[in-house]
Amino acid sequence: MNPDTTKAHQDKTYILPVIPLNGKFVIFPRGNQKLTIASKIATLATESAINIERLALLLNPKEIEKENLGPDDFQRVGTVASITKDSEQSDGTIEIVVEGESRAIVLRCFERNQFLQAEVNVVRDEPDESKQARSLIRVATTSFEKYTSNKEIRVKILERVKREEDPGPLADMIAQFLSDESNILPERLQQVLNETTPIKRLQIVIELLEEAVELIELEEKIEEKINQQVHKSLQKTHKEFYLQERMKVIQKELGRGDEQAEIDELREQVKSAGMTEEAEDKVMKELDRLQQMPPMSAEAGVIRTYVDWFLAMPWSKRTENKIDLDEAERILEEDHYGLQKPKERIVEYLAVLQLVEKLKGPILCFVGPPGVGKTSLGKSIARATGRNFVRMSLGGVRDEAEIRGHRRTYIGALPGRIIQGLRDAKTKNPLFLLDEIDKMSSDFRGDPASALLEVLDPEQNDTFRDHYLDVPFDLSEVMFITTANIRTPIPPALQDRMEVIELPGYTDYEKQKIANLFLIPKQIKEHGLKEKSIQISDGAISGIIHQYTREAGVRNLEREITSICRKVARQTVKAGDKSGPVQIDADDLSDYLGPAKFTRTKAEEQDEVGVATGMVWTQVGGDIVAVEATTMAGDGELTLTGQLQEVMKESAQTALAYIRSRAEQLGVPPDFDFEKNNMHIHVPEGAVPKEGPSAGITIATAMISALTGREVRKDTAMTGEITLRGHVLPIGGLKEKVYAASRNNITNIIMPEDNDKDLSDIHDEIRDSIQFHKVENMTEVINLALKPDTSGRGEVSAPAHDDMTEVIDHALKVSDAPRQVPTSESPH
Ligand code: ADP
Repeated sequence: MNPDTTKAHQDKTYILPVIPLNGKFVIFPRGNQKLTIASKIATLATESAINIERLALLLNPKEIEKENLGPDDFQRVGTVASITKDSEQSDGTIEIVVEGESRAIVLRCFERNQFLQAEVNVVRDEPDESKQARSLIRVATTSFEKYTSNKEIRVKILERVKREEDPGPLADMIAQFLSDESNILPERLQQVLNETTPIKRLQIVIELLEEAVELIELEEKIEEKINQQVHKSLQKTHKEFYLQERMKVIQKELGRGDEQAEIDELREQVKSAGMTEEAEDKVMKELDRLQQMPPMSAEAGVIRTYVDWFLAMPWSKRTENKIDLDEAERILEEDHYGLQKPKERIVEYLAVLQLVEKLKGPILCFVGPPGVGKTSLGKSIARATGRNFVRMSLGGVRDEAEIRGHRRTYIGALPGRIIQGLRDAKTKNPLFLLDEIDKMSSDFRGDPASALLEVLDPEQNDTFRDHYLDVPFDLSEVMFITTANIRTPIPPALQDRMEVIELPGYTDYEKQKIANLFLIPKQIKEHGLKEKSIQISDGAISGIIHQYTREAGVRNLEREITSICRKVARQTVKAGDKSGPVQIDADDLSDYLGPAKFTRTKAEEQDEVGVATGMVWTQVGGDIVAVEATTMAGDGELTLTGQLQEVMKESAQTALAYIRSRAEQLGVPPDFDFEKNNMHIHVPEGAVPKEGPSAGITIATAMISALTGREVRKDTAMTGEITLRGHVLPIGGLKEKVYAASRNNITNIIMPEDNDKDLSDIHDEIRDSIQFHKVENMTEVINLALKPDTSGRGEVSAPAHDDMTEVIDHALKVSDAPRQVPTSESPH
């Protein structure tokens, strides 16, 4: 470009009305465009232009999205255009056709008469015939041809481009085409407009063309890939469909048409079972396998069972949860007599549940002997919260697989008890009572407790994986409640997760009430008897409690009442309509229930030498037991007979060692030679296995009584573990033991001092009728349990620190050194 001529042109300035464009396209010199003028500012500019020379400046804003544009917000280069056509539309807009004349540099932009005006310098392109220009023109035309090769463009345009020999106009022409046709960014087009030097402008356009071509190629590639894929999957489904159809025909030919229909039916059922995606995929795969198998094969049977399990599981069935505390309280009260504390704690638990709305809290664990209402409390909670109830006993479970199921590779594999329970529950949010978790044990087959931990852990149990099902099942909505007879055997890790509620058993008064208010009406109803057709007097109930049952709960009581109801029902049926109400008194019991099962109270009839009454914990609550000891000439052997467990034998040996070490202080005659006498211990009563070392002090008492000839008080029962040094250590199950002693007319109980805290939960009625003596060492026990001997020897005093054990105790700073026997506490 000749600088001089350019300058000459540039010197000439014009003032033109500005028609603002929207910034999304560019109109180049020689470009045509139809525009719709709608805004006020553009309308006024257009009208002004039409009125003068029909010339206007088309100007793009610097930023597309900006609103309320002022004079400074526009580009500095625009296109002077003539308005070749204009027509006012019915909607008030003006439609015009503009034709680009030349580019113009904006010197000044301002607002006047409510529209924008600009003072501009018009730039005209000079012809350039340089070598560079020519080669650029060639490149540009070829690129343009390439770019349009796949496009349907008017032949005219291509011819015009090919004919153009000036780089400036050629660049504008191609740029206009790109602006109209492609999705090149408007900023790049504005760049072309801004460039006043023709060959530089053409270079930009060539770049743009190359970019556009690349873009087209990329699009083509993507398109091709998509097409291929679509084609492939279409082919695949076709293939599958074809093979499946073939398979159906073959199956039919083989006479397995019914099988096919059945499998299709199963597929439908699976689809509508609401399974998780993973579960559904799994079963569907199994069904595919089943389809290819001879129906009578063993493997097919296994798959069918597997699929049946999936179909039986409540994948998404649930009952509507409700927690209404008043209603819950009412239900618990309606179903159970007494149990004030447990009921309160259950209601508190439900209240927390209602507040947190998630079962993230601890698991309730009811601990108590059989028949105290653990299961029935669970049922009531289920009723109160609107959940289905399911119960599963873990008693005897020693294999992890019983909780988690066996892998399907095992013959006869089944899901574990949790999944079985949920199938029975039929909903995914039941109340699941896990009974007897204290009776679980572990062996080489894995620890069921750790599997159970996972089940009960709200952080993990939403993806519980049973080995058999082998897909996760969500247990997070299940309300688990556990029960146990005694707390100690429950693995500590499990105890941590649980809130223990103790149910120690009932007093006679409570049993009487439960029988009258609950058990008898219930059994009458269950036996189809009329409400008033049977009257069991209070005396009779008391008789059943004392002579036919000996238990902490009311299970046997209920059983005996059931027996009576059965017999009455029989009488009623025989007598027909004539039958009146049947009255049952204490005297009638033997007619209905046979001879009394427990004729005498178990406490000894009189004070005796060599027999001490112990209290033991058994599976059926507490019990009392008479421990006998005797000596005879021999060679220093300790013989143990009767119902003694291994731990009890150890207690006996410990007791003997203790006695031998303190023979003198204990009042054993100095001439008694332990080496020349045998000691025999026997526990006569006891069809039920006794556990624990808690008979230690009882054995020791019986031995000392036998050795010293002092009588043991018959109204006194005791429990406590003994150490070699004669200290009394705490024991478990005190509540059950106390209830048992109370049932057996014991009025004095000797118990370890450290068990003091357990007394608070004992029913007032029992606490008032029994005197509790809390002891720390054997000396206290002896003073309380043994009567002063006939030879005049009275209380045994605590040993001085003169023997070797005491010296060691002191040297080692053992904290439980024996105390002086309190003289104020007189033995009874
Ligand atoms: P557990 O599960 O503790 O062995 P159950 O819940 O099976 O005992 O109770 C045995 C029977 O005694 C059930 O019929 C139960 O309804 C009844 N029962 C137990 N405690 C009470 C109570 N406090 N009030 C009314 N019935 C009771």
